[in-house]
Amino acid sequence: MYSPQLLDHFEHPRNAGEVPAAAACVEVANPACGDVLRLSANLEGDVIREIGFLAKGCVPAMACGSALAELVEGRSLAETAIITREDILVAVGGVPTASGHAVQLALDALAALLGALRARRSQTSLSGLAKASPVPVPENRSASR
Ligand SMILES: [Zn+2]
Repeated sequence: MYSPQLLDHFEHPRNAGEVPAAAACVEVANPACGDVLRLSANLEGDVIREIGFLAKGCVPAMACGSALAELVEGRSLAETAIITREDILVAVGGVPTASGHAVQLALDALAALLGALRARRSQTSLSGLAKASPVPVPENRSASR
């Protein structure tokens, strides 16, 4: 019923757990099935260097969480943003029709994580700008004369 790849992710999850002092941590849930997927990640520049997942729910939900974490690790934000449903399906060797929600949960979690990482990154660059802004501009002085 489940593919060998899916069972392998379920039995030997990759990146299971939570990244300590993560830049972003998100949790999404599927109320219909009760699945919960939590992702935490750290950025190094633009690249997701550390990612951890915690999944609670059905076998495919846990396998998709593991497959997603493996897909995302070492990718830049732009490369992560183009991960599709098909990428996850290939990574787990397909899912039974009734388990499509598990792939969707992984995609929802990924979108939430990307949003949180981008927000975090623009926050740090904004505080960098704020520090740099009080630099005097020479043109202002000549204009006031
Ligand atoms: Zn489920």
